[in-house]
Amino acid sequence: MNFCGNCAAPVIRRVPPADDRLRDVCDSCGTIFYENPKIVAGCIPVRDEKILLCRRSIEPRAGFWTLPAGFMENGETTREAAARETLEEACARVEIGALFAYLDISHVSQVYVIFLAELVSDFAAGAESLEARLFQENEIPWPEIAFPSIEVALQLYLEDRRRGAFGTHTVDIKRRVGEKRPARVDSEGAAGR
Ligand code: ZN
Repeated sequence: MNFCGNCAAPVIRRVPPADDRLRDVCDSCGTIFYENPKIVAGCIPVRDEKILLCRRSIEPRAGFWTLPAGFMENGETTREAAARETLEEACARVEIGALFAYLDISHVSQVYVIFLAELVSDFAAGAESLEARLFQENEIPWPEIAFPSIEVALQLYLEDRRRGAFGTHTVDIKRRVGEKRPARVDSEGAAGR
């Protein structure tokens, strides 16, 4: 940021008093521009044991498959955000169920909140999708899944389904030096096991 979004004066990058991090600070109007992690809300829409995935039409990872998920908007709940994203990306209505996965991706300052969901309508490719399709477990295109977070959520979902009980998973997704894709390093807090 070069100029204050509040008063348009130039901003300076420095550590404000009583803080310990560099921030964009406007000395003209006193605004401090804090940057904090963003929440991505999504769900795993399922019907007849098949999972609804969308093939992305936009970057990043255009052409790759993902669960419906996206950044929360102000004024909505995570459940509302997950349902809205599903409507936007897959033209589909869902009944949002229990919290399923809470994925911390600290190297990109994002938190994914993924809910179980029941697909209760028809579906079609939305504006940000090339295609929307139901997949059986053995049809999931693993090499073409868009993001590690989605891959982890799908793996956990299938593991829980095989076990016959869905938990709530808290996972740190870490980037490891020299690895092409981040890895899931920890899974805990499986309530309901
Ligand atoms: Zn200002």
